[in-house]
Amino acid sequence: MIEQSKSDIAHNMAVITDRIKQACSKAKRNPNTVRLLLASKTVDVPRIEHALSLMDKPLMGENRVQELEQKCPKLSQPHPEVHFIGHLQSNKIKQVLRWADCIQSVDRPSLAKKLQNRLLFEDKHMDILVQVNTSYEDSKFGVKPEQALDLVKKISEFDRIHIKGLMTIGLFSADKDKVRACFQRLVSIRQEIESQQIPGVEMAELSMGMSGDLEIAIEEGATIIRVGTAIFGERQYPDSYYWNEQRT
Ligand SMILES: *Cc1c(COP(=O)(O)O)cnc(C)c1O
Repeated sequence: MIEQSKSDIAHNMAVITDRIKQACSKAKRNPNTVRLLLASKTVDVPRIEHALSLMDKPLMGENRVQELEQKCPKLSQPHPEVHFIGHLQSNKIKQVLRWADCIQSVDRPSLAKKLQNRLLFEDKHMDILVQVNTSYEDSKFGVKPEQALDLVKKISEFDRIHIKGLMTIGLFSADKDKVRACFQRLVSIRQEIESQQIPGVEMAELSMGMSGDLEIAIEEGATIIRVGTAIFGERQYPDSYYWNEQRT
Protein backbone atom coordinates (compact mmCIF):
# COMPACT_ATOMS: atom_id res chain seq x y z
CA MET A 1 0.00 0.00 0.00
CA ILE A 2 2.87 2.35 0.74
CA GLU A 3 4.17 1.88 -2.79
CA GLN A 4 0.78 2.71 -4.13
CA SER A 5 0.50 5.87 -2.10
CA LYS A 6 4.01 6.93 -3.11
CA SER A 7 3.18 6.73 -6.77
CA ASP A 8 -0.03 8.62 -6.08
CA ILE A 9 1.98 11.37 -4.43
CA ALA A 10 4.44 11.52 -7.32
CA HIS A 11 1.57 11.76 -9.75
CA ASN A 12 -0.18 14.42 -7.69
CA MET A 13 3.02 16.45 -7.42
CA ALA A 14 3.35 16.37 -11.20
CA VAL A 15 -0.24 17.56 -11.55
CA ILE A 16 0.33 20.43 -9.10
CA THR A 17 3.55 21.46 -10.85
CA ASP A 18 1.60 21.57 -14.07
CA ARG A 19 -1.21 23.61 -12.53
CA ILE A 20 1.34 26.11 -11.22
CA LYS A 21 2.93 26.35 -14.66
CA GLN A 22 -0.42 26.86 -16.38
CA ALA A 23 -1.54 29.49 -13.91
CA CYS A 24 1.80 31.31 -14.24
CA SER A 25 1.65 31.29 -17.98
CA LYS A 26 -1.89 32.71 -17.88
CA ALA A 27 -0.76 35.39 -15.44
CA LYS A 28 2.49 36.00 -17.38
CA ARG A 29 4.54 35.14 -14.33
CA ASN A 30 7.75 33.19 -13.99
CA PRO A 31 6.95 29.86 -12.23
CA ASN A 32 10.13 30.31 -10.19
CA THR A 33 8.40 33.16 -8.35
CA VAL A 34 5.80 30.81 -6.86
CA ARG A 35 6.89 28.43 -4.11
CA LEU A 36 5.00 25.30 -3.24
CA LEU A 37 4.57 24.58 0.46
CA LEU A 38 3.40 21.10 1.45
CA ALA A 39 0.58 21.48 3.94
CA SER A 40 1.33 18.25 5.76
CA LYS A 41 -1.18 18.12 8.62
CA THR A 42 -2.26 14.54 9.45
CA VAL A 43 0.27 13.15 6.92
CA ASP A 44 2.92 10.76 8.21
CA VAL A 45 6.66 11.30 7.84
CA PRO A 46 7.37 8.74 5.07
CA ARG A 47 4.75 10.28 2.81
CA ILE A 48 5.89 13.82 3.60
CA GLU A 49 9.48 12.87 2.87
CA HIS A 50 8.53 11.29 -0.39
CA ALA A 51 6.84 14.50 -1.53
CA LEU A 52 9.75 16.61 -0.24
CA SER A 53 12.19 14.47 -2.20
CA LEU A 54 10.47 15.58 -5.40
CA MET A 55 10.97 19.29 -4.70
CA ASP A 56 13.86 21.56 -5.65
CA LYS A 57 13.54 23.62 -2.48
CA PRO A 58 11.71 21.41 0.01
CA LEU A 59 9.21 23.39 2.07
CA MET A 60 6.55 22.09 4.42
CA GLY A 61 4.05 23.63 6.81
CA GLU A 62 2.44 22.25 9.94
CA ASN A 63 -0.66 23.56 11.70
CA ARG A 64 -0.35 21.99 15.08
CA VAL A 65 2.50 22.20 17.53
CA GLN A 66 2.01 18.59 18.50
CA GLU A 67 2.47 17.37 14.92
CA LEU A 68 5.41 19.71 14.42
CA GLU A 69 7.15 18.25 17.45
CA GLN A 70 6.40 14.68 16.51
CA LYS A 71 7.44 14.84 12.88
CA CYS A 72 10.38 17.23 12.70
CA PRO A 73 12.84 15.11 14.67
CA LYS A 74 12.07 12.20 12.34
CA LEU A 75 12.81 14.08 9.13
CA SER A 76 16.08 13.04 7.60
CA GLN A 77 18.93 15.47 7.16
CA PRO A 78 19.20 17.92 5.56
CA HIS A 79 16.00 19.31 6.95
CA PRO A 80 13.46 20.91 4.69
CA GLU A 81 12.42 24.46 5.39
CA VAL A 82 9.56 24.27 7.90
CA HIS A 83 6.86 26.90 8.35
CA PHE A 84 4.25 27.01 11.06
CA ILE A 85 0.89 27.79 9.43
CA GLY A 86 -1.65 27.11 12.17
CA HIS A 87 -3.12 29.12 14.99
CA LEU A 88 -0.38 29.69 17.54
CA GLN A 89 -1.17 29.78 21.22
CA SER A 90 1.37 31.80 23.13
CA ASN A 91 2.13 28.98 25.56
CA LYS A 92 3.49 26.93 22.61
CA ILE A 93 5.95 29.50 21.28
CA LYS A 94 8.95 27.69 22.68
CA GLN A 95 8.23 24.47 20.78
CA VAL A 96 7.58 26.32 17.53
CA LEU A 97 10.84 28.26 17.80
CA ARG A 98 12.66 24.98 18.12
CA TRP A 99 11.46 23.63 14.77
CA ALA A 100 10.10 26.37 12.53
CA ASP A 101 12.02 28.61 10.16
CA CYS A 102 9.06 30.93 9.71
CA ILE A 103 5.75 31.51 11.48
CA GLN A 104 3.09 32.43 8.92
CA SER A 105 0.29 32.97 11.41
CA VAL A 106 1.18 35.92 13.63
CA ASP A 107 -2.08 37.79 14.06
CA ARG A 108 -2.08 39.72 17.33
CA PRO A 109 0.16 42.07 19.31
CA SER A 110 0.12 39.94 22.46
CA LEU A 111 1.54 36.97 20.57
CA ALA A 112 4.23 39.11 18.94
CA LYS A 113 5.25 40.53 22.30
CA LYS A 114 5.65 37.07 23.81
CA LEU A 115 7.51 35.90 20.72
CA GLN A 116 9.92 38.83 21.00
CA ASN A 117 10.56 38.08 24.66
CA ARG A 118 11.27 34.44 24.01
CA LEU A 119 13.54 35.27 21.07
CA LEU A 120 15.50 37.67 23.28
CA PHE A 121 15.80 34.98 25.93
CA GLU A 122 17.09 32.46 23.39
CA ASP A 123 19.12 35.07 21.52
CA LYS A 124 17.43 34.14 18.24
CA HIS A 125 15.62 35.81 15.36
CA MET A 126 12.49 34.67 13.55
CA ASP A 127 10.89 35.36 10.18
CA ILE A 128 7.14 35.76 10.21
CA LEU A 129 4.19 36.55 8.01
CA VAL A 130 1.18 38.40 9.35
CA GLN A 131 -2.02 36.41 8.91
CA VAL A 132 -4.96 38.48 7.71
CA ASN A 133 -8.57 37.35 7.89
CA THR A 134 -9.52 38.54 4.41
CA SER A 135 -12.81 36.62 4.38
CA TYR A 136 -14.07 38.15 7.64
CA GLU A 137 -15.30 34.70 8.73
CA ASP A 138 -15.53 34.21 12.48
CA SER A 139 -14.09 30.71 12.14
CA LYS A 140 -10.84 32.00 10.69
CA PHE A 141 -7.96 33.44 12.61
CA GLY A 142 -6.02 36.43 11.40
CA VAL A 143 -6.04 40.15 11.99
CA LYS A 144 -8.91 42.10 10.45
CA PRO A 145 -7.87 43.81 7.21
CA GLU A 146 -8.50 47.26 8.74
CA GLN A 147 -6.12 46.48 11.60
CA ALA A 148 -3.33 44.87 9.59
CA LEU A 149 -1.24 48.01 9.08
CA ASP A 150 -1.44 48.88 12.76
CA LEU A 151 -0.35 45.37 13.74
CA VAL A 152 2.58 45.45 11.33
CA LYS A 153 3.70 48.77 12.80
CA LYS A 154 3.55 47.36 16.31
CA ILE A 155 5.45 44.20 15.40
CA SER A 156 8.09 46.22 13.54
CA GLU A 157 9.18 47.61 16.91
CA PHE A 158 10.28 44.12 17.96
CA ASP A 159 13.82 43.77 16.69
CA ARG A 160 13.95 39.97 16.84
CA ILE A 161 10.92 39.51 14.60
CA HIS A 162 11.35 39.98 10.86
CA ILE A 163 8.19 40.56 8.88
CA LYS A 164 8.50 39.07 5.39
CA GLY A 165 4.97 39.45 4.09
CA LEU A 166 1.36 38.42 4.56
CA MET A 167 -0.65 35.21 4.70
CA THR A 168 -4.33 34.51 4.24
CA ILE A 169 -6.82 31.70 3.83
CA GLY A 170 -9.32 32.56 1.12
CA LEU A 171 -13.06 32.11 1.51
CA PHE A 172 -14.23 28.54 0.91
CA SER A 173 -16.69 29.16 -1.84
CA ALA A 174 -17.54 28.02 -5.32
CA ASP A 175 -17.99 31.70 -6.15
CA LYS A 176 -14.59 32.47 -7.65
CA ASP A 177 -15.14 36.21 -7.55
CA LYS A 178 -15.56 36.09 -3.80
CA VAL A 179 -12.42 33.99 -3.41
CA ARG A 180 -10.52 36.37 -5.67
CA ALA A 181 -11.73 39.34 -3.63
CA CYS A 182 -10.00 37.88 -0.57
CA PHE A 183 -6.68 37.61 -2.38
CA GLN A 184 -7.08 41.09 -3.85
CA ARG A 185 -7.71 42.41 -0.37
CA LEU A 186 -4.39 40.92 0.75
CA VAL A 187 -2.62 42.52 -2.20
CA SER A 188 -4.06 45.93 -1.43
CA ILE A 189 -3.09 45.62 2.24
CA ARG A 190 0.42 44.82 1.10
CA GLN A 191 0.44 47.95 -1.05
CA GLU A 192 -0.80 50.04 1.83
CA ILE A 193 1.93 48.68 4.11
CA GLU A 194 4.65 49.07 1.47
CA SER A 195 3.70 52.69 0.91
CA GLN A 196 4.46 53.40 4.58
CA GLN A 197 8.07 52.24 4.20
CA ILE A 198 8.24 50.96 7.76
CA PRO A 199 11.86 50.26 8.75
CA GLY A 200 12.66 46.55 8.89
CA VAL A 201 9.40 45.47 7.26
CA GLU A 202 9.53 43.49 4.03
CA MET A 203 6.46 42.63 1.98
CA ALA A 204 8.05 40.19 -0.47
CA GLU A 205 5.89 37.20 0.41
CA LEU A 206 2.19 36.66 -0.17
CA SER A 207 1.19 33.24 1.13
CA MET A 208 -2.22 32.50 -0.33
CA GLY A 209 -3.93 29.78 -2.32
CA MET A 210 -4.59 26.12 -1.48
CA SER A 211 -5.63 23.00 -3.40
CA GLY A 212 -8.91 24.46 -4.57
CA ASP A 213 -7.96 28.03 -5.34
CA LEU A 214 -4.26 28.12 -6.18
CA GLU A 215 -4.83 29.32 -9.76
CA ILE A 216 -6.73 32.38 -8.56
CA ALA A 217 -4.08 33.09 -5.93
CA ILE A 218 -1.28 32.86 -8.48
CA GLU A 219 -3.12 35.19 -10.82
CA GLU A 220 -3.38 37.67 -7.96
CA GLY A 221 0.29 37.46 -7.04
CA ALA A 222 0.85 34.62 -4.56
CA THR A 223 4.52 33.84 -3.88
CA ILE A 224 3.78 30.83 -1.64
CA ILE A 225 0.88 28.44 -2.20
CA ARG A 226 0.05 25.95 0.54
CA VAL A 227 -1.19 22.64 -0.81
CA GLY A 228 -2.33 19.57 1.11
CA THR A 229 -5.32 17.66 -0.21
CA ALA A 230 -4.31 17.81 -3.87
CA ILE A 231 -1.04 16.07 -3.01
CA PHE A 232 -1.82 13.81 -0.07
CA GLY A 233 -5.53 13.16 -0.53
CA GLU A 234 -8.46 13.92 1.73
CA ARG A 235 -7.76 14.35 5.41
CA GLN A 236 -9.43 12.30 8.09
CA TYR A 237 -10.22 15.37 10.17
CA PRO A 238 -12.41 18.24 9.07
CA ASP A 239 -10.61 21.57 8.76
CA SER A 240 -12.61 22.90 11.69
CA TYR A 241 -10.38 20.69 13.81
CA TYR A 242 -7.54 22.96 12.84
CA TRP A 243 -9.22 26.29 12.52
CA ASN A 244 -11.74 26.54 15.32
CA GLU A 245 -9.38 25.97 18.18
CA GLN A 246 -10.12 27.73 21.41
CA ARG A 247 -8.48 31.10 21.59
CA THR A 248 -6.34 31.56 24.66
C1 LIG B 1 -4.60 22.54 5.42
C2 LIG B 1 -4.12 23.90 5.07
C3 LIG B 1 -3.81 24.24 3.77
C4 LIG B 1 -3.95 23.27 2.60
O1 LIG B 1 -5.30 23.06 2.33
P1 LIG B 1 -5.71 22.02 1.17
O2 LIG B 1 -7.08 22.43 0.84
O3 LIG B 1 -5.64 20.67 1.77
O4 LIG B 1 -4.76 22.20 0.06
C5 LIG B 1 -3.34 25.53 3.52
N1 LIG B 1 -3.20 26.43 4.50
C6 LIG B 1 -3.48 26.15 5.78
C7 LIG B 1 -3.30 27.18 6.81
C8 LIG B 1 -3.96 24.87 6.10
O5 LIG B 1 -4.26 24.59 7.36
